Amino acid sequence: MPQGLKPDTRVRKEIPEEYHWNPNHIFPTWEKWESACAELDALIEKLASFKGTMNQGSQHLYTYLQLQDRAGELSHRVWYYPALQFDTDQRRNELDAKRQKVQAMFVRFATATSWYSPEVLGLGWGTVEKWLAEDRELALYRFTLSELFRLQEHVLDEKGERIMALSGRFASTPPSIYSMLTTADAKHPDVTLSTGETVKVSHAAYGSMLRTLRNQEDREKVFRAHYGTFEGLANTCAAIYNSVLQRGWFHAQARSYTSVLEARLEGNAIPASVVNTLVSTAKAGTGPLRRYHQLRKKFLRLEKYHLYDGFVGLFEEQKKYPFRDVQQIILESVQPLGDTYVRKMEAAFHERWIDVYENEGKRSGAYSAGVYGVHPYMLLNYQDTLDDVFTLAHELGHSMHTILADESQPYVYSDYTIFVAEVASTLNEALLLDTMLEKSESPRERAILLQHAIDSIAGTFFTQALFAAYELEAHRLAEAGEPITADVLNQLYYGLLQEFYGDSIDHDELYRVTWARIPHFFNSPYYVYQYATCYASSALLMRDIQSSDQAVRQAAVDRYLNLLRAGGSDHPTSLLKAAGVDLEQPETVLAVVDQLDTLVTQLEQEIDRLAH
Ligand SMILES: [Zn+2]
Repeated sequence: MPQGLKPDTRVRKEIPEEYHWNPNHIFPTWEKWESACAELDALIEKLASFKGTMNQGSQHLYTYLQLQDRAGELSHRVWYYPALQFDTDQRRNELDAKRQKVQAMFVRFATATSWYSPEVLGLGWGTVEKWLAEDRELALYRFTLSELFRLQEHVLDEKGERIMALSGRFASTPPSIYSMLTTADAKHPDVTLSTGETVKVSHAAYGSMLRTLRNQEDREKVFRAHYGTFEGLANTCAAIYNSVLQRGWFHAQARSYTSVLEARLEGNAIPASVVNTLVSTAKAGTGPLRRYHQLRKKFLRLEKYHLYDGFVGLFEEQKKYPFRDVQQIILESVQPLGDTYVRKMEAAFHERWIDVYENEGKRSGAYSAGVYGVHPYMLLNYQDTLDDVFTLAHELGHSMHTILADESQPYVYSDYTIFVAEVASTLNEALLLDTMLEKSESPRERAILLQHAIDSIAGTFFTQALFAAYELEAHRLAEAGEPITADVLNQLYYGLLQEFYGDSIDHDELYRVTWARIPHFFNSPYYVYQYATCYASSALLMRDIQSSDQAVRQAAVDRYLNLLRAGGSDHPTSLLKAAGVDLEQPETVLAVVDQLDTLVTQLEQEIDRLAH
């Protein structure tokens, strides 16, 4: 057995400290956190005292904006100190209480500054533009101020903005109920497999089981157990989801948008056609996806082929990837992005930025959380699988984006939008795949990696496009005042599965409840389509980064790193255009479909070769 495998224990304190992130980089003690909270409170009061004074000139406005940035920076730190610790053990009520204290402070922050937008808008763009031209310090805020005026027609009067700010407290309720229901309170069933082994079908373990269980009946058992949990919660989940939809529609209508989609996209000036084009192009391009599943069915010699058969390795893959070993491969894979990039990534491994393994009470999934002025933190539930290696590369991509943006941008422009975010993560995954394919010496291993690449496109691109189609239709129902029940959502989801997969799979009715187990639907509506558009963007960038022409390669790397450094200093579609990617062109989306077609053909050839 290789050294450094995942610990057997799920008890946090029995896992060596080097695999825990260190929240003390934010504050050394809870006392320091308390005094930072007090400082933030004082800043909030100070900001409130500026009310009614915005007409005092450009330097006055500049002073206000600087203070607001300081409060924003501080709020990151006071939030993440308890939030990160809560995520590693969600049973600790005292940490949840501290998070709630910060959430209440954020509402006070929003309420105390709710007068700002209407008051600055009241100055008129003419005045503000004149100030920007005259005052070199204020010019720093040109983009953010011009954005305020661009969105002017959706800003309410002072009374209206105050009501919107007050509604913030319960706007965050649906996702917290969903999270409590599905992580803290849901009972994960035990299942006895054909080997006689009894396993707990936890959220984190489910995906990994579908990838590794060779026996179709075992896969069906864990699928029924896991989806059974959500079927048992379906009515409650539908009620929560309805509140998410109604919340979105309330905000959209209150701000005079014609749809939730329009409201969600206008903030970043993204044309709604980007989402509609994505969905229709993906629906029309499912040919290679279906061909892949038919190839799998034949290769795995299955009479019936269900979605839960769609993830297991074509070959039995015993290889484990200990966390310590993969660090080197990942660092090597990002070498094309330059030495500086590699050196910065090394810090993540050596300075306890990552919480590596699953433990009791820990939040499922993986994320990277940037704490401006400190460093990004990454949460993983690392289980030593090939998939985990790619998740690690993915989150490191986000973290590197954060580091480059934080270094290059002032606080106000450090936060990049999700529309660009997944370019950085999926590009790192593509680089890793490249390195691993190159290193592989056997056709069998190449087939395994090709399968991984295909599964990435199937999962990242097609699944997320299907999710986007679901969100579009669910929101349209809410916008039309149609009832939203578990039955309605089940039917909607099931119909989309049939549209995407056709007769390439045997449809299982229990898959109807998939919508209930996707946290993104509840936490951040109209988020997932961006995985698909970002996948297309990074596929285009990768083409040039891998070019045989050195000049083309270097220019592409420069464009790409500039995109990361730009953070949120401009509209995401403009930043991407500067990097050479135009998402308004359907060709960008089609590039992914073509790429999948090529990969499936390559896999067919490798399998043919292995059979002879
Ligand atoms: Zn991501």
